[in-house]
Amino acid sequence: MCQCLVFLTFSSFTTQMDAKNPLFGIQKYYDAIVIGSGLAGLTGANYLAKAGHSVLLLEHHYQLGGLATYFKRPGGHIFDISLHGFPHGMIKSCRKYWSKEIADSIHQLKDIRFINPEFNIQTTFDREDFTRILIEKFGVPAERVHGFFEHLAQMNYYDNDKRTTRELFEEFFPGRTDVWRLLLEPIAYANGSTLNEPAITYGIVFSNFMSKGVYIFQGGTDLLIQKMTEELNKNGVDIRRNCLAEKILTEAGADGVPVVRGVRVRDMRFGEVAEISCKSVLSNANIRNTVEEMLDPGTVPADFLAESEAVRVNTSSCQVYMGIREGETIPHIGDLVFTSEAPKFDSDDLVDLHTTSRTYSVYYPDTRPQRKIPHYAIVTSINQRFSNWENLSAEEYEAEKKRIIEESFAGLEKYIPDIRAKVDWVEAATPRTVRRYVRHRDGTSFGTKFEGLKISMELPEKVRGLYHAGSVGIIMSGWLGTINYGVITANKMALAMK
Ligand SMILES: Cc1cc2nc3c(=O)[nH]c(=O)nc-3n(C[C@H](O)[C@H](O)[C@H](O)COP(=O)(O)OP(=O)(O)OC[C@H]3O[C@@H](n4cnc5c(N)ncnc54)[C@H](O)[C@@H]3O)c2cc1C
Repeated sequence: MCQCLVFLTFSSFTTQMDAKNPLFGIQKYYDAIVIGSGLAGLTGANYLAKAGHSVLLLEHHYQLGGLATYFKRPGGHIFDISLHGFPHGMIKSCRKYWSKEIADSIHQLKDIRFINPEFNIQTTFDREDFTRILIEKFGVPAERVHGFFEHLAQMNYYDNDKRTTRELFEEFFPGRTDVWRLLLEPIAYANGSTLNEPAITYGIVFSNFMSKGVYIFQGGTDLLIQKMTEELNKNGVDIRRNCLAEKILTEAGADGVPVVRGVRVRDMRFGEVAEISCKSVLSNANIRNTVEEMLDPGTVPADFLAESEAVRVNTSSCQVYMGIREGETIPHIGDLVFTSEAPKFDSDDLVDLHTTSRTYSVYYPDTRPQRKIPHYAIVTSINQRFSNWENLSAEEYEAEKKRIIEESFAGLEKYIPDIRAKVDWVEAATPRTVRRYVRHRDGTSFGTKFEGLKISMELPEKVRGLYHAGSVGIIMSGWLGTINYGVITANKMALAMK
């Protein structure tokens, strides 16, 4: 069917056809529709628009950024959700695919700390410093440490190496579970990995960090998203907030493989529905939501659907946000402080409802140097399983939230004894919060396990014109992974649309 035959329909005659209506002035056709404004969706949309395509970006939330977002609270507080640290590679990706201005605001966090019963370490979290720590503090022979880093540098996704991270650690540091903890615990926080994941997923992410340390966007997520939005507007992307993509519409292709024909959109303010046609769709929604919920049943072959249904989603997170009263100060206790009372590293313990593993991200005034009044905030992140939280009653849910707030304070009091007196805003988010805001299955913070990458990459073969980019397969998760995956996917789309 000709693209231009596809139509725009509203479910009812509307009196809302004004600028407040999220669908106001929407076109009937775009070359590409991007579903979701996470970092992969934003970057993919920008890439496609710069390549000369007409692009519609749909976000069900009123705010862009997906998990790379922020919120404001009384008292001048601004809290970042996922601005805790990413690898140096973000500078290059942002310069190439966003702007020099964005890239130039990326700054290193130099004070990363690990405090647990096995060790107490302060580091810049790069290869040089980790080499020193492994040799001097852990007594590992130098040639072993160098051998490990050299091995990681050689690892390649296409080698099809089936080893797990546990096997990799056994080879280089046999029986040294304290070393394993140092090497894995921060990465487990960064993408939910365990010892049982393919070693390649660990190797790529760890090496990315080790190349030059940990970075954040100075100015805060609010400024980053504002700058990205300006770029998207400049490049002509039609951005629609409060617009839920309900269905990806397809039709039969000449060779029997279904072909994308458009997207059914529901505006979240007035409930109106429109069908917008397009050549290609880039879904930044969770890969399993995309395949199993957004396509009509029977669209993809049964074996592909079964493979998608078997993909394990990653774990989720709780966070406790503490705003320090305006005018108060707190001492420097590190930028990212990984704490745990667990005697040994244990992947299951890390996501247990009562885990003692907590990472404190401390936002000093230089996180947002543009603010006239200096502000401090502390965000505690706790890895969690969705299943720990999904069936709690309303009372249990409130009680558990209070508990994690209390435990976060108690943990912090070791470093800032009068912290309670300095905080004038505190609240908690849970895996249920994550699911509500970004709609990901099981409120996953880091997409899917490794097998999800295959489903994501094979999707265009099952439905022509349908692509996915976003946290998936561990490798493509996190800020850098998703931005780069957005580019890779958008590039494939642009070539296919030529
Ligand atoms: C607590 C926490 C801490 C983290 N810390 C870090 C960190 O320090 N460093 C790091 O690199 N990474 C971190 N991450 C991970 C990182 O934030 C994510 O991997 C990354 O932001 C995900 O980007 P994405 O493109 O996959 O999309 P997401 O951010 O997952 O966004 C998907 C978007 O799609 C939208 N959407 C979904 N379905 C629809 C639909 N049907 N219609 C319209 N819109 C839809 C959602 O609302 C959302 O905006 C953290 C994550 C969490 C939760």
